[in-house]
Parts: sequence; C-alpha cells; structure tokens
Amino acid sequence: MKATSPPAWPIIGHEWAVQFLQRTIEQGRTRHAYLFVGPADIGKRQVALAFAMALNCKEGGAAPCQRCRNCQLIRQQSSADLFFSQTSGSSNTLPIEEIRRASAFLALQPYEMRYRIAILNDFERTAPLAQDALLKTLEEPPPYALLFLLAADESQISPTILSRCQKLRLRQVDPAVLAEQLTAQYEAAREQAQLLAQVSGGRPGWAIRALQDEALMATRNQAIALLNSCMSQSRAERFRSAERLAKDKKTFEETLSWWQSYWRDVLLLAVDPSHAATNCDQHEQLTTLARELKGKEIVRALQATRKLSERLALNLNLRLAIEVLLLAYPRLPRYHMISH
Ligand SMILES: [Zn+2]
Repeated sequence: MKATSPPAWPIIGHEWAVQFLQRTIEQGRTRHAYLFVGPADIGKRQVALAFAMALNCKEGGAAPCQRCRNCQLIRQQSSADLFFSQTSGSSNTLPIEEIRRASAFLALQPYEMRYRIAILNDFERTAPLAQDALLKTLEEPPPYALLFLLAADESQISPTILSRCQKLRLRQVDPAVLAEQLTAQYEAAREQAQLLAQVSGGRPGWAIRALQDEALMATRNQAIALLNSCMSQSRAERFRSAERLAKDKKTFEETLSWWQSYWRDVLLLAVDPSHAATNCDQHEQLTTLARELKGKEIVRALQATRKLSERLALNLNLRLAIEVLLLAYPRLPRYHMISH
C-alpha cells in the first residue's frame, strides 16, 4: 500500500526549518525556547505559528493538519493559549511590562491546547534588563510552556538568553519558489509574481502584501526614483532632500532598506555584469551606475547606507545623519541623461 504524503506546512520556502522542526516533534525533543532569526517579512511569524499548530494539532502528527480546531484557532491567532507581544510607541521597543506579561502568561496551565506559547516579536528591540526578566521562565519553564522569540538581528540579544534557545536562522526564499507560490496560492499573474518575488529579495511577507496593496510597490519605486535623482544633485540640493526625508522616520527607514538593496545590486553588477539583480525592473539604471562609477564609490555608498540602517534605531539627529549619507553618495551630473 502506498503511504499518503504527510500534510504540508503552511509556509513558503524554509524547507530546512520545517524539516528540523518536524523531526523535533517526531523525536519528542521539543525545547522550551526557540529563536527565529531573519530579516523583516522573511516568514519568522509564519514558521512560529505553523510550529505552534503542529505542536497542538488534534491529529497528533508532526505536521499541522490545518483543519482541526486547534490549528484554526492558532492560524487566526485567537487561542487563549497563544500570547503575542505588542511593541510600544514610536521607539518601537518591547517594554519590560510586556516581558513580564509573557512570563505570567506562561506560568498558567493551558486552557484549550497542549502547550501554552508566547511569541515575542522584534525581540532585538528589547532592552537588556527587560530581556533578563525572561531568565526565570527560561531556567525553570513549566512543562507545557513554550517561548518563541523572533528577531531580525541576534547581536542585540543577551548571551544568556541565546544559550537557552534553539536558534533557527531563516534565509531568503528562492524567488522562483516564491513566484510559483504567489501564482498557486494567491492567483497572481505570472509576470507580476516573478517581479514581486525578485524585488522582495525573497521575502514572502512583503511580496504577499505587495500583491494585495499596490501602494507598497509605489513606495519602493519612489524610494528608488529619489536615489536616482540624488545622483545628479548638487550639495545644496542634497541638503534640501535630507531635510525633507528627515520629517518621516518610519518612511525613511523603508526608503533606506530599498537603497541598500539597490546599491548592493550596483556593486554585484560592477563585479559581474550577468548578476541577476534583485531590482530586476531597474536594469538599465543599475548597469549604467555599475559602469560609470568607480568600485570604491559604490562600496562607500553601500557601506554608508548599511551603517545608517543599523544606527537608525538609536536616538540620532536624523537630518544630520541623512545629510552625511547623501554626501557619501557619488555624483554623476549627467546621470539622468545617461540612464534615459
Ligand atoms: Zn490540526
């Protein structure tokens, strides 16, 4: 008799993580704390939720059936045994009260599931003292308590916490796999699916949202247009651009991540003209920059962009920081004529 194939996990990509977690359940070696690390929109939350479903599924297999009551409650994020952290205020940090709420939540017996699970998002944005509030829960966890930490960057997480977590690093999903799923699961037109998968840099969360909301792609196009126009701007014009950009930190944070992806493409194209650019719809401009700029100018622009991106969470003088960044960008006075 041919065995029926086990149910698939509701996740795009991340096959390695799925196999690892599934084996953990099969072998009965579930740990009390997991750390899912990876860039924004890569799928950390989806993997954590699917793992929560698999652990609590009434079918009792190692994969979530996605049909039973527990699977559905977790998918809808409406189980009384599931806790989601809330970040607070404009600083977007996870306050210590929220950590204490999570610990108190995990101390109680499950109400309707096998496990009680707390999912703490953006954990790298938690102050060290607040992180330490988790230690007691991590050292003496009740048998039914599970803690899933999600973070973009583990360097901000205390070593004691790290040492008590099973870490899973999620990497970008192959754009071909992502495009296929956007077509199959979300009925995207083939060409649009390929563009969004590529531009997202293999981040399913962004690609799916961009499919449902055209504003996301428009924001990205704006960010790139701004960068392109900056290239032919004088010093004085760049100061004016910096002043405008500094008015909205949240939008600028996103702009900066697109600039980083753009400069990365320029650098890779300068090294290898056959490189498949992430910003595949900008091929003409990217190859022009790769050809016209010196290697060290490109590296300097990319490094300055990355550096500001890392420092953005700090309380810095944003306008000044953007001025410094824009002045680190090379100047090609005839750029718009060359690229069009
Ligand atoms: Zn189920």
